Amino acid sequence: MSSSQQEVIVIGAGVIGTAVAYYLADAGVPVTVLDDKPVGSGCTYHGSGLVWKMIWNATPQYKLAMEARDVLFEIVPQVQEESGVDPMLHFFDTLMPMFNDEDLIPLQRDIETSDGDAEVEWLDREEVLAREPRINPEVQRGAFLEGSAQIDGYELALAYAAAAKRKGAQFWSLKAMGLEKEGGKVTAVRHTGGAIPCKHVVICMGAWSDIASEWLDYPVPVRPLKGETLRVRHPEEFPLKVSRPTGGGATPRRDGLLMTGATGASRFSDRPEGIMKLELDFEPTAAGFEQMIAPSLYVLPCLKEAELVYHLAGPRPLSADGMPIIGPVPGLEGAYVATGHRNKGIHFSALTGRIIRDFIATGSAETINPLNTFLTERFAGMDEIEFTAAGITDEIRRML
Ligand SMILES: Cc1cc2nc3c(=O)[nH]c(=O)nc-3n(C[C@H](O)[C@H](O)[C@H](O)COP(=O)(O)OP(=O)(O)OC[C@H]3O[C@@H](n4cnc5c(N)ncnc54)[C@H](O)[C@@H]3O)c2cc1C
Repeated sequence: MSSSQQEVIVIGAGVIGTAVAYYLADAGVPVTVLDDKPVGSGCTYHGSGLVWKMIWNATPQYKLAMEARDVLFEIVPQVQEESGVDPMLHFFDTLMPMFNDEDLIPLQRDIETSDGDAEVEWLDREEVLAREPRINPEVQRGAFLEGSAQIDGYELALAYAAAAKRKGAQFWSLKAMGLEKEGGKVTAVRHTGGAIPCKHVVICMGAWSDIASEWLDYPVPVRPLKGETLRVRHPEEFPLKVSRPTGGGATPRRDGLLMTGATGASRFSDRPEGIMKLELDFEPTAAGFEQMIAPSLYVLPCLKEAELVYHLAGPRPLSADGMPIIGPVPGLEGAYVATGHRNKGIHFSALTGRIIRDFIATGSAETINPLNTFLTERFAGMDEIEFTAAGITDEIRRML
C-alpha cells in the first residue's frame, strides 16, 4: 500500500463517496477512496432510488433537490457510457389514489413545500380507475403527477466507481480510524494498518458519519435511520407509480420489479404506527414486512399475486435537521463532509459530487439556490444537538 501523499482521500464508497470520486477524477484531481466494505454495500444497496419530484420537509431542500434531479439526469448517460454499467434510470408518472380526507393532508403539505412548483392534476374516482383499473374500487378521488423517476442506487454507485477508476481514481479496501492534523490542516488519514498522508479528506461515511465528529473536532450530527423495503415480481406490467399519500402502492423499476415501502420514511414517520428505528441494523423484520405490505395490498389488491423477491433493510444517514450536510469543515483546512442525505442520497448524489469537487478545486461552490442551509456551519458550537427532523417524535428523541 502506497503511503505517498494523496491529493484527496474520500472515506466511504456509497453512492455519495463514489459520486464525489467521479466528479473529482473527471476534473483531473487525483482521488483515493477508502472503504473496508464493497462499493455500494452500505445504505446505498438498500435504497429505493426514487428521484423525487415532491415530498420534501423544507422548501430550500425541495429547491436544491430539483437542481439535483437535473444534474443527475444530465450525468447518468455519461457515467453509464464511461463505465459500461447501466444504473437503470427510467421515467414514469405517479397516480395518487385517495381513499379519505386524511390522504389529502400530506399531499397538500408536499405541494406547499414546493412553493407552487409541483403541480398535480386532480382526478375524480372514475378518472383514477380509468388510469389504473387495478386500484381498490373504494378509491374516492386522486391526483396525477408527471415526471417521476427511479434509478438503482447500487448500480449507480458501481457506475460512478467504475467511471472514476477509468479516470484514475483508486479504491482501497481499508477502514479509516481517524485523522492526523497539524497547524489547523488535515495531514493524513489513519487506517487499521498505518496512515496515508493527504491534502484533503471528504467524509462520506453515511450513517456512520457521526464517528467523524471526534476526528474533526466538529459536530457531524448523523444517526442511522433504519429503513426496510420490498421488491416484488408481478405477472403484469405497471406503467405508473401508484402511491397513496398516507402509504401503500407500488413503484415500477426498469427491471420489471415493483417496490413497496419503505419503513421509517420521512413522509409517514409522523404517523404513530410507523416503525422508526435509529440503529445500524440491516435485518429485515416481520413487523416491517407487515407495515409495508398491508397498505399496499389495500391500495392494489392484485399485489397478492406478486412474488416476493427482496426484503431489504439498511441505515439511512439522518442529520439533525433532516437535510444533507455538504461542504468544508470550518477551522480544519482540507476537511469536507458530504453526508446526512436521509432518504434522498441517491437523488442528491451527482449534485453532492459536483459541490465537493468545486469546493476542493476552487474553494467555493454555487448552486441555483443558496447553499448556506446545507453547509456544515449550521451545527457549529452546538454541544447538545437536538434532532428536529420532520418525523422525529418524542419517542424517537428518547432513543438518541
Ligand atoms: C429503505 C430505503 C429506501 C430509500 N429510498 C431512497 C430513495 O427512494 N431515493 C433516494 O435518493 N435515497 C433513498 N434512500 C437513501 C439512500 O439510500 C441513502 O441516502 C444513500 O444510500 C446514502 O449514501 P451514502 O454514500 O451516504 O451512505 P452508504 O451507502 O451507507 O455508504 C457509506 C459507506 O461508508 C463506509 N464507511 C463507514 N465508516 C467507514 C470507515 N471508518 N472507513 C471507511 N469506510 C467507512 C461504509 O462501509 C459504507 O460503504 C433509501 C434508503 C433506504 C434504507
